[in-house]
Amino acid sequence: MRKDIHYPADQCVKCTICVEHCPVVKVTDKFLGPKQVGPDFQRFRSDGETPHDISLEYCTGCRICDVVCPSGVNISELNTKAKIALKKEKGISIRDRLLSHAYMFGHLGSIAAPATNTFMKSKALRWISEKLLHLEKDLRYPSYTSEPFERWIEKYSFQSEKKVAYFYGCFTNFNDPDLGKAVVKVLERNGYQAVFPKQNCCGLPLLGNGDIREARKLAMENLEGLFKAADQGLKIIYSSTSCGMMIRDDYATYLDLQEAERLSEHLVEVSEFLWGLYEAGELDTDFQEINMVLPYHIPCHLRSLGIGFPSIDLMGLVPGLEVDELGTYCCGLAGTYGFKEEKSDIANAIGGELAELLLKSDAEFAASDCEACRMQIENLSNKKAVHPIKIILRAYGLDKKEDEDEDED
Ligand code: SF4
Ligand code: SF4
Ligand code: SF4
Repeated sequence: MRKDIHYPADQCVKCTICVEHCPVVKVTDKFLGPKQVGPDFQRFRSDGETPHDISLEYCTGCRICDVVCPSGVNISELNTKAKIALKKEKGISIRDRLLSHAYMFGHLGSIAAPATNTFMKSKALRWISEKLLHLEKDLRYPSYTSEPFERWIEKYSFQSEKKVAYFYGCFTNFNDPDLGKAVVKVLERNGYQAVFPKQNCCGLPLLGNGDIREARKLAMENLEGLFKAADQGLKIIYSSTSCGMMIRDDYATYLDLQEAERLSEHLVEVSEFLWGLYEAGELDTDFQEINMVLPYHIPCHLRSLGIGFPSIDLMGLVPGLEVDELGTYCCGLAGTYGFKEEKSDIANAIGGELAELLLKSDAEFAASDCEACRMQIENLSNKKAVHPIKIILRAYGLDKKEDEDEDED
């Protein structure tokens, strides 16, 4: 729930620590680097001169620069704002508009699944994607479910005095509804009833592609539901670290929605919430053994949230489970970044170390709290990637129960 305090560009002491840690600078010379396009250029921007550098396009928005800067300079904010201004000046391409509206395809893709999934793998779509839209041809697109999470919710009947609101996000809704079910079942096991505020995509892909107007529209729709939950005094849980970061930090920073700041004390990442229960002696710790070494990748946006690494703590309670925190930084996919043809080599190079570690591991699957990281893990290693909450569900023995319930329906 922490919110970092950032200082302006003139606090930069030119130590270049941000440059050393920037994953893009490590693999390409196309990007001038966080210090140069950030605090250095900001001085000119303030004077209305040389406003933006085209190499900004190559910043993934991972925010590692903010995390490591000893002077607390708001580097990624400076860069993102300049990137938005650049997009305003040059316009947003059709390809980037399509990528940033991926949540709309979720509705369509689910209605027509599994036919959509077959089409997504077809040579025809690959050809269109590559030749006309300049999308990376070798990446696997996530498949759509024919039963979105929001439809499953309609059957959810658990009642409890103890309630939490759940912002599940569009990926859980249309691509990984089992994650939403896992979150709800784990909460239920601990006596909590999930309620579901009216919601849409958080807007992060739109922000990442510079479409502030559309991102703001989605944000305002979300805020309506989230404020209602907050006004009832509910904690608001999220299972995507990117969604959480967008709502907690970016609505105010980039979308001029300062009122969103009052959600900050309500928003809690799901493992953070469960770890809080553990610390209060209220978590059901009757876990079954899971004997494995589990590779775990920390998402950049979890680092930038500044809430620690609660899923490592939580999974550490499961007997037999050894969590192998890989020590990797950006996975390279960075939302829609890795899908773009001109950036895919950079994305793969950034993810190189992660790929190597995953390929060395004997584990059949890995874990990460962000859907983009999980997609990249599957792309780079052919191993399945799961959200840590699915591990907890399994440790409770509820994953099998879930399958049986589905069979009975
Ligand atoms: S946000 Fe990430 S990619 Fe962009 S400048 Fe900072 S460290 Fe580099
Ligand atoms: S880490 Fe911070 S202080 Fe050091 S060069 Fe980068 S912006 Fe400046
Ligand atoms: S950040 Fe969350 S809501 Fe936004 S596109 Fe990704 S999953 Fe959907």
